[in-house]
Amino acid sequence: MHNRDAVFLDELCPKLRVRRWRQSLHSRTGQSCIYCGNPSESIDHLHPQCRGGLSITENCVPACLSCNGRKSDADVFDWYRRQRFYDPRRAMAIRAWMDGDLRLAMRLLQWAQPDLSPTTNDRPNPAALKPNSHDADWSWQAA
Ligand SMILES: [Zn+2]
Repeated sequence: MHNRDAVFLDELCPKLRVRRWRQSLHSRTGQSCIYCGNPSESIDHLHPQCRGGLSITENCVPACLSCNGRKSDADVFDWYRRQRFYDPRRAMAIRAWMDGDLRLAMRLLQWAQPDLSPTTNDRPNPAALKPNSHDADWSWQAA
């Protein structure tokens, strides 16, 4: 396990703020690891803290403990390309996240993982709102 990041964040900021921030990161990927899609259990620094990487949203991604630990202090793209679960769409998502374009990152992740539904989005699924043959009956009943 590789939990230095969590300890560092908790030391830096008030705990509640950090917890909310971490939750918001996890919710953007639907609580899944940005690298492999497994449940995200930690926050990984894209640019490692030991090389000056900051604890800001652009540098912090939800990751499972396995990916977080195996990546360690390697360059994120070098490391990711060598993984058997490598997905170019996820690599693009990581790049977009780094650039601060979280909307694009989320869209790319949804492309890589179609069943992904970000928990920040509580609007109904558009597919569930498709018009059907009962619409006419409904409007008649409502009138
Ligand atoms: Zn992972």
